[in-house]
Amino acid sequence: MVDVVAQSIRCSHCGGPVEFKPGEIVATCKYCGFTTVIETGQAFTFEHSLILNRFDQTSIEQSIRDWMEGGFLKPGDLARKTKVVERNLVYLPFWVVSAEVRSTYKGIFERIAPPMMKEGTISKEYNWIVLAREASGFPSREYQVPLEGKIPYDFRKIEGFAKLLNSEIDRDAALELARQQIETQHRFLLQQDVDRIIEIRTEINLKQMVYLHAPIWFIKYEYKGKLYQLIIEGATGNALKGDIPSTRF
Ligand SMILES: [Zn+2]
Repeated sequence: MVDVVAQSIRCSHCGGPVEFKPGEIVATCKYCGFTTVIETGQAFTFEHSLILNRFDQTSIEQSIRDWMEGGFLKPGDLARKTKVVERNLVYLPFWVVSAEVRSTYKGIFERIAPPMMKEGTISKEYNWIVLAREASGFPSREYQVPLEGKIPYDFRKIEGFAKLLNSEIDRDAALELARQQIETQHRFLLQQDVDRIIEIRTEINLKQMVYLHAPIWFIKYEYKGKLYQLIIEGATGNALKGDIPSTRF
């Protein structure tokens, strides 16, 4: 990984340095929590929320053990023989798009003879989650942000040892990304009904859009001389994704 040099602008709220890296679009001041759109230097005017983390470096240990001792496919001595080598708490940035989405489609149903043309719509409501930057190995498609627990962003709740990542996409880009991802999902759902899609148009009726930081633990552990990654959600302690050592010899 290339270590890029951080740049900084002055926080227009507290005057402190707000660091950001190339590619970051929206940055949050670690001294006062004020959020700025880097390119314009203007205040970020949309809702910024936070999901609280409930673990520290010691108590996260129990969640790691629970994951290692649960499930069928893991080596029996996994919890006993493992050494945890890294426990990094990272607040990842997300855009949550709450919207009614409508896809109108035309397609051909070929399972009967003669094939017939079908038209229709899929209408659904979503709280669609867009990960606001690259995060290696993070399962963003499967991740359900525990939205019930969100509070207004509060920099005082961010632990000193944690890392807060900035957004690499702006609000409009996130909305467009959500639209594309939902359309892809709808194309998948349409496979039941239509064999070939000729035309599909997806429109979003946006109700709310929230910029949100959620606490994610990136764990590295060593088992029999090899390193593995485990990702745990900081709000619940549930494992989101974990590498399981092979039980074969
Ligand atoms: Zn500030």
